[in-house]
Amino acid sequence: MSLVVVGSIAFDAVKTPFGERERMLGGSAVHFSLAASFFTDVRVVGPVGDDFGGDEYRVLHDRGVNTDDVEHVEGGKTFFWRGHYGFDLNMAHTDETQLNVFGEFQPKLSEASRSSSTLFLANIQPDLQRDVRAQCTGAGLAGLDSMNFWIDTARDSLVKAIGGVDMVLMNDAELRMLTEQPNLLRAAREVISMGPRMVVAKQGEYGAALYTESGFFALPGYPLETVVDPTGAGDSFAGGFLGYLDAETDGEISDQTLRRAMTYGSVMASFNVEEFGTERVRRLTHEEINRRFEEFRSMTHIETVPLESR
Ligand code: AMP
Repeated sequence: MSLVVVGSIAFDAVKTPFGERERMLGGSAVHFSLAASFFTDVRVVGPVGDDFGGDEYRVLHDRGVNTDDVEHVEGGKTFFWRGHYGFDLNMAHTDETQLNVFGEFQPKLSEASRSSSTLFLANIQPDLQRDVRAQCTGAGLAGLDSMNFWIDTARDSLVKAIGGVDMVLMNDAELRMLTEQPNLLRAAREVISMGPRMVVAKQGEYGAALYTESGFFALPGYPLETVVDPTGAGDSFAGGFLGYLDAETDGEISDQTLRRAMTYGSVMASFNVEEFGTERVRRLTHEEINRRFEEFRSMTHIETVPLESR
């Protein structure tokens, strides 16, 4: 089994009430890959510029992430995002987005990436998401994320991209914005009517809710006393969720597997936010993940209640 992800590979400048970093490795595909790498083989697709060097590759390679399809654009600059958070850490404020090498990017996937069993279209221009979806003919399971920036600037293309995937994982506020539905259940149903089988509404520190055509399942966030930088929490959730699904399923996905995938997603997100950028996940071990998974499972009794049908 293997998982391919396309999304931003970035340098981030982030300020939170607990500190700041002027330039650190980030990007949706990077946070996703690192989290998913604890569960399955991961291949990352995206462009980088001359400023992306050995130190950045090392972070990915240390976790066994395959970077053969990372394209180095000669003379280019890597995608850059600057953002800040106030005391409400659920709300990211974007101060600057420089697309840089993404401006001209034409994804060219290797045969190994095209035939991966699972595909994640992380947050990036929806035209690129559609292009990659069309190339990945081997993917039996495809997920997608997006954000307000693309809902504002490329909504029609995003709706088409959503039509080509099995599951959408987005923030609750972005699902409301996309569908213009204030009610989250209605918003999720409207997204399901665009094509996918499932929607995961990420709700920051409050957890995540899963909607299928006939079922609903929700988990709180893992209770943490120290949250330093929420950047990448959503991508880490998606990496744990889809990484576990890629490793555990072959065709049909049972309710129990979905519940466990949600739990692993929450666990990976909880580690990500404990420090800036990728700092915590770089040092993470399987033992720490399993310990937190078991602890969270016993807090939430996730195996005992069947998915409610409604
Ligand atoms: P999240 O998991 O939602 O916190 O995603 C955080 C990552 O998204 C950061 O590391 C940024 O580099 C990246 N990002 C921010 N804006 C965009 C954008 N417009 N397109 C793609 N990636 C972005």
